[in-house]
Amino acid sequence: MRKVYLDYSATTPVKEEVLKEMLPFYTENFGNPSSLYSIGLEAKEAVENARSQVASLINASPREVYFTAGGSEADNWAVFGACDAFKEKGNHIITTEIEHHAMLHTFEFLAKRGYDVTYLPVEEDGRVNPKVFEDAITDKTIFASVMLVNNEIGTIEPIKELAKIAKEHGVIFHTDAVQALGNVPIDVKDLGVDLLSMSSHKIYGPKGEGALYIRKGLKISNFVHGGAQEMGKRAGTENLPAIVGFGKAAELAKENFDEHVKHLSELRDYMVSEILRRIPDTYYNGSKEFRHPGNANITFEYIEGEAMLILLDQKGISISTGSACSSKSLKPSHVLSAIGIPVTRIHGSLRLTVGDPTTKEDIDYVVDSLEEVVSRLRQISSVDTKKGW
Ligand SMILES: *Cc1c(COP(=O)(O)O)cnc(C)c1O
Repeated sequence: MRKVYLDYSATTPVKEEVLKEMLPFYTENFGNPSSLYSIGLEAKEAVENARSQVASLINASPREVYFTAGGSEADNWAVFGACDAFKEKGNHIITTEIEHHAMLHTFEFLAKRGYDVTYLPVEEDGRVNPKVFEDAITDKTIFASVMLVNNEIGTIEPIKELAKIAKEHGVIFHTDAVQALGNVPIDVKDLGVDLLSMSSHKIYGPKGEGALYIRKGLKISNFVHGGAQEMGKRAGTENLPAIVGFGKAAELAKENFDEHVKHLSELRDYMVSEILRRIPDTYYNGSKEFRHPGNANITFEYIEGEAMLILLDQKGISISTGSACSSKSLKPSHVLSAIGIPVTRIHGSLRLTVGDPTTKEDIDYVVDSLEEVVSRLRQISSVDTKKGW
């Protein structure tokens, strides 16, 4: 049976070249980067090389990049670190209704501990209106976080404008760039952000590795306490092979950027147009203009996403009904709710994300399978359909 993976926003396979760089650091080059003899110094050098590779992908200085155990930790650190460092100034913090749970659940945690939280709504295309953001800022606002690219509908947020407003009001601004990394151009200086989160496994690197960009001159509190690793800001013996892998993945992402974006957007656009043309009562959710090149989010009216997911899985196709974390629950996606999609339509929505290994044949197989599965499920649910669902 053909196997087609169309969930590259959930995770990506480690590239061969990345794995090849990583392997020696499990065995012969296993030194602790804090040790002062040769194999330790070599390990340290490998970490610093990776730091430069990651920094280069976002136009940061290497000293502004701190490795973490993934995107979630980087998000948590940004929030707790900034809120603790600026607690004298106020307790109002701002985010959006469409953030990843790594951000939303962290804000919810702080809300229970006395922080005043504003969740910004988004427009129909999933974008935050800068005016709405500016109006939400008070003299008690210390921190704001808006994601660069949304993981469910792929919307690219107007971060440069938002960061400028935050700066004018003396608010620390963070962006979760996990989905953006390697998929949209990122220049931290041009964006003007204070903090930016990244993750390795969304860019063909290993899982459990990520980084937080902290703008030079900004002091936020530490999150993981202990040894003096990561310039004294993030304790714990470095995950050396993963850091090396993340660095290599970042280097490849930079080198192949144009080709990667072209490949993804061509396949995604072809897939979307084929689905909308061949399957009736389908809707393309989110922004057409400001969008991750590999993301499609489509509603198939009158059916359940979970039923589609199961039948497609039987055909060797991996597709998500929402974000990987929420797809285990039957709660309607908070992102699709935020852009005003009715609950019945949310339940019939799929996220399809293409990646570097995806081919046109894969897409043809997926569209054929979708056409068959959707028509089969609609026949079963035709009684409900007539009732108006
Ligand atoms: C995947 C993801 C995260 C979490 O990153 P991990 O490395 O899996 O912890 C955070 N934010 C967004 C937008 C993501 O897509």
